Amino acid sequence: MVHKITLIPGDGTGPEISEVTAKVVEATGVKIEWEIAHAGVDIMQKEGTPLPQSTLDSIRKNKIALKGPVTTPIGTGFRSVNVAIRKELDLYSCLRPCRTYKGVKSKYENIDLVVVRENTEDLYAGVEYPENSPQALEIIKLSENKIRENSAISIKPISAFGTQRIVRYAFEYALKHGRRKVTAVSKANIMKCTDGLFYKTARETAKDYEGKIEYEEKLIDNMCMQLVQKPELYDVIVLPNLYGDIMSDLCAGLVGGLGVAPGANLGEDIAVFEAVHGSAPKYKGLNKVNPAALILSARLMLEHIGETGAAFRLEKAVADVIAEKKSVTYDLGGTAGTKEMARAIIDKLK
Ligand code: NAD
Repeated sequence: MVHKITLIPGDGTGPEISEVTAKVVEATGVKIEWEIAHAGVDIMQKEGTPLPQSTLDSIRKNKIALKGPVTTPIGTGFRSVNVAIRKELDLYSCLRPCRTYKGVKSKYENIDLVVVRENTEDLYAGVEYPENSPQALEIIKLSENKIRENSAISIKPISAFGTQRIVRYAFEYALKHGRRKVTAVSKANIMKCTDGLFYKTARETAKDYEGKIEYEEKLIDNMCMQLVQKPELYDVIVLPNLYGDIMSDLCAGLVGGLGVAPGANLGEDIAVFEAVHGSAPKYKGLNKVNPAALILSARLMLEHIGETGAAFRLEKAVADVIAEKKSVTYDLGGTAGTKEMARAIIDKLK
């Protein structure tokens, strides 16, 4: 069977790592027909939009995409392409497994955590009002002066629907992957309405998995300390959008950094696979950055499309190359370039 998959090279170092990742995936023997579609600053210069409609159409048609990182310039009107893709396609679940690979320098050993982040709600919903806008002034009035005048305001919506589907996803993932526990993380002692609803809904959803998967709740501040001190106590962690974004990087730090942190954004029937790291623009065109995070994201993709044997072999090939330390990039203490590291992984797959 040939799988038709959208390949979005991205910008910055994205095209370099996407190109080698496609080659590594092909080396597993899985038959893939890539449909190239563009997003990011380079296509913005050509087409006037960082996310052309044709790119969204391609993902909608093929249902699966592998995406390189895309730059979001700070302080311009340029909206995050990543946030836009997740919202447009309702990719409500952001999956970020964090696993220790032998050979990656880290303060911790044997980490095996999975962060499941809600992707569409919370402070990332994009409902924001500048200071002194009519909406901000109206909200200040509604707040009975709890909000200072001249404040800019971002709204934090959390729904029962959004929470239920992300918590259900976390439990289903735990069941499918032989995991033992789901920890729901929030700050409901302070944000009683929004985070309170997150816990309440999570608790109700957890009842469906009683006796199969353990459920617990932790406050986000405590959870940060717990993960630094006793990460082995945790397994699958489910969080609203903002906390999930931050905690994903914290967990990537536990396993030695962004170079080995893969990710997936999943909806009901569409999935986009991408590394946790960004476009690292300062290294653009230098054949320098580590392709492993995108390759490990492709490994998640192979599992998702049912190519579990190839997924397993690919992860082993990456793990072996990292453990041998001969052909790894600068961030893993080596001198290999992006292409050389990818070639070493391909050699393992032969
Ligand atoms: P970044 O992840 O690009 O870089 C952070 C640090 O990690 C840098 O020092 C970089 O050199 C290093 N790094 C990143 N990827 C690496 C790799 N594969 N191998 C080795 N080292 C690597 O984060 P940033 O600098 O904050 O962001 C750059 C741009 O990327 C921003 O515009 C940001 O918005 C965007 N971004 C995009 C995505 C995405 O497309 N999913 C995710 C995060 C950030």
